Amino acid sequence: MTAAPAPQVPVAPGRYRSRLPMGGGVSTGSGPDPASPWDSTLAALQTGQSFIKNKMVFSDDCLAAFAAVGTSGSKVRSEAGSLQLFNGTTNNDPITVPLPDGTTVKTTVAALFTNQSPLGQPATAFTYFNSTSSYWLPGFGAQQSLSTVEAQILHESLHGLGFTDGQIESALGIASTNTTNAITDRLQKLCF
Ligand SMILES: [Zn+2]
Repeated sequence: MTAAPAPQVPVAPGRYRSRLPMGGGVSTGSGPDPASPWDSTLAALQTGQSFIKNKMVFSDDCLAAFAAVGTSGSKVRSEAGSLQLFNGTTNNDPITVPLPDGTTVKTTVAALFTNQSPLGQPATAFTYFNSTSSYWLPGFGAQQSLSTVEAQILHESLHGLGFTDGQIESALGIASTNTTNAITDRLQKLCF
């Protein structure tokens, strides 16, 4: 953890009220969220995951995007429904991450989710290629719409199916940058 002052995060009235009686203590000064940001993130992700798996009807534009990347709606739906969702900050497994300039950097899963991330800012999510193991930033989902959360799940599902950010960006005509939010934004536009 860094010694940086706690960011000021606007908290909706009553957002954490129901957790207080069970909290057993109040933590101050060490992070943006006095409750458990991972619990709320996991809940939002599970809601989005369930929607994609059971209810989502992919639009033609959405299916065309999947086809351009090299996969299909049924494969993405299956992968999204199979993702195992983990707190990214608590996993110290070593990983090698591709950067937009074509180089790679050795780091750990947890380091990706800190301010010292080689990405220049904490990652939102990291999913191993050809895997269902998906790691997420605690707090994500608290201030994002459900469709943003769902679009990020679709984005991570493409990684789980083996596609790199560069491959997805190239297939969808998106410029490669340090962050890959543009992929999520595009999927959100096309699919929701
Ligand atoms: Zn990505």
